[in-house]
Amino acid sequence: MTLEIKETSVNRTIGQMGKMGHEQLVFCSDLETGLKAIIAIHDTTLGPALGGTRMWNYQDESEALNDVLRLSRGMTYKASISGLQLGGGKAVIIGDADIHKTSALVKKFGEYVDNLGGRYITAKDVGMDTNDMKDIRSVTKHVTGIPKDMGGSGDPSPLTAYGVFMGMKASAKFKWGTDQLSARKIIVQGVGHVGSELVRHLVSEGAEVYITDINEQRSHEVSEKYDVKIKSDDFIYDNDIDIYSPCALGATLDTNTIENLKCEIIAGAANNQLNNEDIHSKQIRSKGIIYAPDFLINAGGLINVYSEIKGYTEEEAIQKADNIYETTLEILLKSETDDITTHESALSIAKQRIVKSK
Ligand code: NAD
Repeated sequence: MTLEIKETSVNRTIGQMGKMGHEQLVFCSDLETGLKAIIAIHDTTLGPALGGTRMWNYQDESEALNDVLRLSRGMTYKASISGLQLGGGKAVIIGDADIHKTSALVKKFGEYVDNLGGRYITAKDVGMDTNDMKDIRSVTKHVTGIPKDMGGSGDPSPLTAYGVFMGMKASAKFKWGTDQLSARKIIVQGVGHVGSELVRHLVSEGAEVYITDINEQRSHEVSEKYDVKIKSDDFIYDNDIDIYSPCALGATLDTNTIENLKCEIIAGAANNQLNNEDIHSKQIRSKGIIYAPDFLINAGGLINVYSEIKGYTEEEAIQKADNIYETTLEILLKSETDDITTHESALSIAKQRIVKSK
């Protein structure tokens, strides 16, 4: 019998890993608990691959695979640009967290993480919570983001919000010559864990803050707490606001929304804000809008879990998040000097650091 090598999904997957620069993919399956998961390790040049585990009801395995490949690569660049000794990784568990997630399934997943011997360190992402991290901790030490009372670093959202605030101030400095945000009209889209903390910083600086959120109760709570006005999404496109801050879900910046934007700066916490990184970062630039790259300015959460691994104090973590200000300025200046988008500028700095340390 001759062995025929065909174009199979395995060939395609390994080809895709090569194109994107991934080192390792681990497919996990356990019949007893129903676990189906993929762990992707992108690049460990700078250190162990760190990135959260997402549990999501993917339409099929290929959708999950694409997600984990893209997200893990993003983590490599986020860690690099933030000056952390970490590589990029991510994991996805296939299934509806509300229906399929059990303690046994999560622990089984933790065993797969443990088998990697520290090459991959996990944390919480969409569909996972702090209790799941406790379950994973019971079978492996390669997990971060566990509660403070268990010696962990707790909720990363406040530091994420602080980093976004720093990135926003640096963008203002670049655009207007001053980083003071007082009286600037700023709309925060999504006032969950990160967005609400960002509102707190902005209000304390005297900015004119507006909020939008699909969760009415949440909007009202934040509106009352900080005395800010609730608006609909139309407000983002129909008004001459100074800063648009996407803090809900990703991909809000597409051909149509960018066309209608009237703001001068985009700076928010959401991951993967650009629907198409190449096309839409160029479209934003051609409109003269300053875009603070998401993977840089939302790195506060990663810095927070990094501090847990390194045993840093809260003050040291804040100092690292402070650096987001200078790095943002550096990226914006480079994009002007090299005549490239801010996204390209951030990526090239992140890649340079990895190449230098090889
Ligand atoms: P969250 O779930 O606490 O808050 C998100 C909020 O957005 C919710 O209140 C939700 O109702 C609202 N929302 C959802 N869709 C919306 C829409 N179309 N329009 C307006 N509001 C909408 O999440 P979070 O932890 O605050 O994270 C916010 C974003 O920042 C996410 O994209 C997340 O991936 C990213 N991020 C978070 C962290 C962190 O430390 N939490 C770190 C890095 C990146």
